Amino acid sequence: MILILVPNTQPDSPEYKQLMAHLNNLSGITARVHTEVGVEQTLTEIYLIGNTKVLSVDDVNALPCVDRVVRVSEEYRVLGRHTNDDRPTYFEYNGVRFGQDTLNVFAGLCAVDTLEHVEMMMKALRDNGQVCTRMGAYKPRTSPYSFQGHGKSCLPYVFDLAGKYGIKVIAMEITHESHLDEIRDALYQTGNSTGVMLQIGTRNTQNFELLKIVGRQQNFPVLIKRGFGITLDESLNAAEYLASEGNRKVVFGLRGMKTNMGDPHRNFVDFSHVSVVKRLTRMPVCIDPSHSVGSRAVSSDGVLDVMHVTAQGIVAGANMVLVDFHPVPSKALVDGPQALLMKELPQFLEDIHIAREAYEKRVALAQRYREE
Ligand code: PEP
Ligand code: MN
Repeated sequence: MILILVPNTQPDSPEYKQLMAHLNNLSGITARVHTEVGVEQTLTEIYLIGNTKVLSVDDVNALPCVDRVVRVSEEYRVLGRHTNDDRPTYFEYNGVRFGQDTLNVFAGLCAVDTLEHVEMMMKALRDNGQVCTRMGAYKPRTSPYSFQGHGKSCLPYVFDLAGKYGIKVIAMEITHESHLDEIRDALYQTGNSTGVMLQIGTRNTQNFELLKIVGRQQNFPVLIKRGFGITLDESLNAAEYLASEGNRKVVFGLRGMKTNMGDPHRNFVDFSHVSVVKRLTRMPVCIDPSHSVGSRAVSSDGVLDVMHVTAQGIVAGANMVLVDFHPVPSKALVDGPQALLMKELPQFLEDIHIAREAYEKRVALAQRYREE
């Protein structure tokens, strides 16, 4: 059960103290408090965990400071959508809104290699009106002999350049808790000129200790990718780990599933689950066409498969696109064969625009038929 308190409830007020005393007295139930400090107001939610079936919603609603009460199902308690649940389906980070109603493109380098390539990428993004990018510094690789990313040594120039080109959010995978501190330190040293969305990669979706650590901090939002060999339910529970620890600025990423049926793509594209995740949870949904398709194969109609599957995800309502670009793919240290080229950036963005318009028209059409 979730108690949503009246905005700006003060923890030292007598009413709040009375409420907490009452909740702490309930046997077999523990109360977990979550506070979200926004620009305009502070929102407090209290999660009651345990035998809450014995509580009546009306009784709890009548307690001091309580604005609304949501009875949650067992599934995805914090991030899920529940009956009469009007909690938000968006969050803001560094001036950018991420929601089930928005669309953000994160085009960038799979792995940072040279300062020059980072600069070329960021300049192209700025010239095309983009404020987000992807930049991998810590790369989980199948072979221990493959390039593992430049790690913390590249962070200062990546963050400096982001500031120079007006990039507000960089999606960056971390594979170990120490990376969190390295990112925090480098941001601080470069004057917090940009923001970072931490990425949990598909190989770490069920690294529960990493999830707990990342979930305990609220500075950075998190993109968690679906595990490539586990069920959707298992991946959504992994996202819930982040939120249950306190961080609900979470985006869920679809990136294809490992199955031989995926041939000839690197992974079996799973963007038909965009609408499923939006129905089950309040998370914005990201698609990663690059790691799904894994090549620059071109269809008989002249359109790259990467662009076709991007459009499929957008037409179904995806809210974020994570996509590999590279100025010189032959020199990329990771995933060059699937990277799009700088000159393809305007085409890619226009293609996305077309698909987004189609999505909006489809939603309006459905609404018209519902009203008839
Ligand atoms: C990536 O985005 O660079 C990446 C490694 O993705 P995934 O975890 O989906 O394989
Ligand atoms: Mn990659």
